[in-house]
Amino acid sequence: MEKKFQIDKKILIILLSIFGLLVLFLVIYFFFVPRFQLNSFSSKIEVPYAQEFAFQAGDVCYGTFFHCEKVEAKEEGTVDTSKLGSYKVTYVFEYQSKVLLKEQEVLVVDNEKPVISIEGEEPLTYCANGNGYGYKVVATDNYDGDLSDKVVSKIENEKIIFEVVDSSGNKSILEKNGILKDEEKPVITLNGESNVFVPLNGTYEEKNASAYDNCDGDLTSGITVEGSVDTTKTGEYILTYKVLDSNNNEASVTRNVYVYQASDYPSLEGKNIYLTFDDGPSAYTSKLLDVLKKYNVKATFFVTDQNLTRGYDDVLKRAYDEGHTIGLHTSSHNYGYIYSSVDAYFNDLYAIQNKVKKITGFAPMIVRFPGGSSNTISRSADGGTRIMSQLTKAIQAKGFRYFDWNVDSNDAGGAKNAAQVASNVINSLGNKSTYVVLQHDIKEYSVDAVETIIQFGLSHGYTFQALKMDSPRVEHTVNN
Ligand code: ZN
Repeated sequence: MEKKFQIDKKILIILLSIFGLLVLFLVIYFFFVPRFQLNSFSSKIEVPYAQEFAFQAGDVCYGTFFHCEKVEAKEEGTVDTSKLGSYKVTYVFEYQSKVLLKEQEVLVVDNEKPVISIEGEEPLTYCANGNGYGYKVVATDNYDGDLSDKVVSKIENEKIIFEVVDSSGNKSILEKNGILKDEEKPVITLNGESNVFVPLNGTYEEKNASAYDNCDGDLTSGITVEGSVDTTKTGEYILTYKVLDSNNNEASVTRNVYVYQASDYPSLEGKNIYLTFDDGPSAYTSKLLDVLKKYNVKATFFVTDQNLTRGYDDVLKRAYDEGHTIGLHTSSHNYGYIYSSVDAYFNDLYAIQNKVKKITGFAPMIVRFPGGSSNTISRSADGGTRIMSQLTKAIQAKGFRYFDWNVDSNDAGGAKNAAQVASNVINSLGNKSTYVVLQHDIKEYSVDAVETIIQFGLSHGYTFQALKMDSPRVEHTVNN
């Protein structure tokens, strides 16, 4: 046992000696041998995208533990921080004749998150299907630029959470208060005209419609059409296009199809329509003037001074200024008075003429008898004097010109809506050169028929005219 211990002891001494020598060499090297010492030098650094690059040589010196002199580096290589990626640069440390080359990897990186912003008021609205609407999402990134298209959103607990990731993986999240709201109807757009005119026994071509919904997008395939057109019967047909969105909001749009008597067509040249409006002005006359203006159509207004037409002097002036003919109907519109005597008639006529002159500066000479020259009401007021026979002569003797009509819209009779008024007029038109149409602009539905009448007239070669003193005579047969 003792012997063995002695052998082990010898080996131990040798091992300890070797170890001691090693330590001695290391100590000498560490403390006394001059060399380059890299106190701080990174072999890999990161530089933010688009920022100016500065070399980072760190702290390098040459010398011993006791004395080490700082060594400046010569920097070689370029880094383009406008492009993401890895670059290599080299530092050359030189101390007297000693040289140390160190490479450094420079990573140009994008660490900046995109910025999401919402143009719209909170709470933001979203549909039952999760699509948001009524606001705009904008996302921009320092490196990728516009990322608006890349924003995804989800809805959680009445919040809309927007998320976008840039090409370097930087993620931004934005949370906004939201509210489920899907009350907007789809919008149906008709293909083709909303007023279609088909000659009797002609062909009606259904052009259908398209539908778009703020929540559901294209709903064209869900449109249903109610109604039908019988081209073998004149009249007005209404087609109703309906569509529902996913929240059961219903939209509907109608198309009016007029099947008209076509026997008088094709047309001759020089067909004129004189639209005339009695009994106004009224609350609807401005709307009428707007339609006439839209189609650059001139018309004739046989005006009155009844209570219901008071307060529209500016409208009358506008009609005059826009080139329409202002004619005289009656001041009072009181048949019992007007047709009681020739004097009474002219008292009433001059009263309305004076009023028009006051408003427009012009004294009209164009007249329409209340009830027309063929009216029979005058019989019960004139005491058997056959006053219409007298008036039709007297009025021309005084230089006036009266006009009756040869197309009755029947807006004071059986026609009770715009479609009936339009149908009555359209079905009365043929290939004559002069059509004087009777309407009343104190009836809103009659005013509402005018656009259809104009569309028909213009698309069938008619010219719309205002009555003038020398316009063709359209006069009824006196009937008293
Ligand atoms: Zn009248």
